[in-house]
Amino acid sequence: MSNVRVAVVTGSNKGIGLAIVRALCRQFPGDVYLTSRDAGRGQAAVAQLQQEGLNPLFHQLDIDDLQSIRALRDFLKDKYGGLDVLVNNAGIAFKVHDTTPFAVQAEVTLKTNFFGTRNVCTELLPLVKPYGRVVNVSSMVSSSALRGCSQELQQKFRSDTITEEELVQLMAKFVEDTKRGVHEKEGWPNTAYGVSKIGVTVLSRIHARLLTERRKGEHILLNACCPGWVRTDMAGPKATKSPEEGAETPVYLALLPSSADAPHGQFVSDKTVKPW
Ligand code: NAP
Repeated sequence: MSNVRVAVVTGSNKGIGLAIVRALCRQFPGDVYLTSRDAGRGQAAVAQLQQEGLNPLFHQLDIDDLQSIRALRDFLKDKYGGLDVLVNNAGIAFKVHDTTPFAVQAEVTLKTNFFGTRNVCTELLPLVKPYGRVVNVSSMVSSSALRGCSQELQQKFRSDTITEEELVQLMAKFVEDTKRGVHEKEGWPNTAYGVSKIGVTVLSRIHARLLTERRKGEHILLNACCPGWVRTDMAGPKATKSPEEGAETPVYLALLPSSADAPHGQFVSDKTVKPW
């Protein structure tokens, strides 16, 4: 088993994820894994970085596929005995003008952005080593969507005692409510992406709390962040930040020095803790 440190970035064959891998290859003292659900797209991205003189490694990972997540888990356990940096970046968003029925958009978006990300956390968080760093790429849209929720939902999502099971039930309820056409009546905002990212931010707060309670002394720091509005296939060419600029906050959180004890369990944008 190798003593080399290891970083993994999900959904990193393009966009912000690829820029995060590029920055980690330059700054992280260890192996950096570019992962992609499609091996061809992943290998092409690795080749692109190799042409820049960088040396990322590759592993397949589809966060919608539990077998794929577990294969990566077993690989990391065998080869490295764990994991030092995990960046949960993979995500999807329907375009604003997409005519797919809202209930389908809700189910598909929540499946990847919330349930997929959660499955990665379930399998990989137990592997994270002392002084590990976990970064969940959420969005400022999670904050605006939170403000669009009923007072009752806002209270639950801001609660310091909400459990992972309660959060999972609420996310599943949103999908069911959209299918029954009652999501607005039930206090939800009209954004599947926004609700999925509420899920990512609240899951981060819960996981950080559990790390503090159960793994005190391991100095692991876990945060959610917004990369900003970034020119990628998701956000389009009019966005204000380059992918490299979008990678700055996630990379800052991934490389928090071992002497740091904060931020932890926060929502961070432009390297600054934002109120939730
Ligand atoms: P992007 O260019 O569309 O890239 C998304 C990446 O996620 C791609 O590599 C994609 O792979 C991957 N992915 C999607 N579903 C996956 C799955 N099931 N398993 C593994 N990988 C999967 O988008 P981006 O703008 O870089 O977004 C990266 C993250 O930043 C997302 O979480 C997004 O919500 C968040 N974000 C973006 C912005 C923005 O302005 N761009 C703002 C706030 C937050 P494929 O190539 O195979 O599709």
